[in-house]
Amino acid sequence: MDFARAREIVLAACEPLDSERVQLLGTLWRTLAEDIVSNDDVPAADNSAMDGFAVMCADTAEASDNNPVPLRIVGEVAAGSSPGVTVGPCEAVRIMTGGVMPGGADAVVVLEQVQERDGDVLVFSAARPGQNIRRIGEDIKKEEIVYKRGEFVGPAELGVLASLGYAQVSVSRRPVAAILTTGNELIEVSEELSPGRVRSSNTYTLFGQIREAGGEARILGNAADAEVDLERMMMEGVEADLLITSGGISAGKYDLVPKVVAGIGEVLFHGVAMKPGNPMSFGRIGGTLWFGLPGNPVASMVCFEEFVRPAILKMIGRRSVHRPEVKIRCGTDIKQSPGRAHFMRAVVQMENGEPFAYPAREQGSGILTSVSLADGLLVVEPGEGVIPRGTELTMRVIREDRYLRRVGRSKDLGN
Ligand code: AMP
Ligand code: MG
Repeated sequence: MDFARAREIVLAACEPLDSERVQLLGTLWRTLAEDIVSNDDVPAADNSAMDGFAVMCADTAEASDNNPVPLRIVGEVAAGSSPGVTVGPCEAVRIMTGGVMPGGADAVVVLEQVQERDGDVLVFSAARPGQNIRRIGEDIKKEEIVYKRGEFVGPAELGVLASLGYAQVSVSRRPVAAILTTGNELIEVSEELSPGRVRSSNTYTLFGQIREAGGEARILGNAADAEVDLERMMMEGVEADLLITSGGISAGKYDLVPKVVAGIGEVLFHGVAMKPGNPMSFGRIGGTLWFGLPGNPVASMVCFEEFVRPAILKMIGRRSVHRPEVKIRCGTDIKQSPGRAHFMRAVVQMENGEPFAYPAREQGSGILTSVSLADGLLVVEPGEGVIPRGTELTMRVIREDRYLRRVGRSKDLGN
């Protein structure tokens, strides 16, 4: 199956999930399922940005160091109280940061720049209209759409939601993704290695990838390479929205996963023209989407990136389901793979002010450390030839923060 076609099939099979109302704190790192409209102006009234005195600018027009203007202090406004006084000609009101501007005043002079004497405040320079005043609605206007559904809630958004009075917010339900590893050779993290045994790292990378994408991970455990065991454990996963199996989908004698899925559900494709990840499979068991990922740790991560992540993002209603892509020149000659799109783990390096993507040193499908080095996946189209150094290719950026740092940019890529 052609890679692009395979991805279309996956995305066509998943629907945005329904939403749920949760307490504000529970929305962190989740996706809004409603537009956030402001019921109030923020700030709700003109208020002082500094501790000082609310004055009428006109009174201070002639003020200078040699000609201080005295204004009578007629009252005080603390933050959180309503003014209760107004400022008339040649008057001032003491005001604290956040205090609501009293009527009549059109500027605040800062405490550090005045002197007080016998119930007067001496002003030494002319005040500008609006000086040190935070205007009503200057942050957010009433009725404004502040965030749209499909946007992500991070710490700043939490704060804005709080200032708008959203005690509960509607967010999309997080898809539950069950992880089932397969393989007689696999052992737990805490177990000692013995010849032929492998600790199941995929359990952990998949857990991380699911969480990072916005899903909820459920670890089912490891199934032996035997049909009964596989079927029994897969059935435990069909409560979930997604069942992700790892391993057991290649051509080997013990690669039984697709066969078991075919018995209890439907295999929509088995095998994709990609590298790594050739045996990548997909189907459904009842209402659960099944992603058959290869066991090779790198292939598992790449296939998650290319298939499972977009599916999860679509389910949670994110507006863009793909990683940001950049055009970048390759730093070395690259041999194409006949008939297979190659997703190369790539590291970005600057040369004479221009970024180049170099294949991470080890492209072997078992070299997991190469993934933690990679800034992105360089997409090398299938072919028989050699792509010369300097050719512009597409790279999917998987570590955006690091990529931006390497290329010396600070603005994000907008996905
Ligand atoms: P398979 O796809 O089952 O043929 O596995 C391919 C390779 O990936 C084998 O070397 C397995 O030992 C390894 N492998 C399979 N599952 C895991 C896992 N959960 N964690 C780490 N390596 C794995
Ligand atoms: Mg296996």
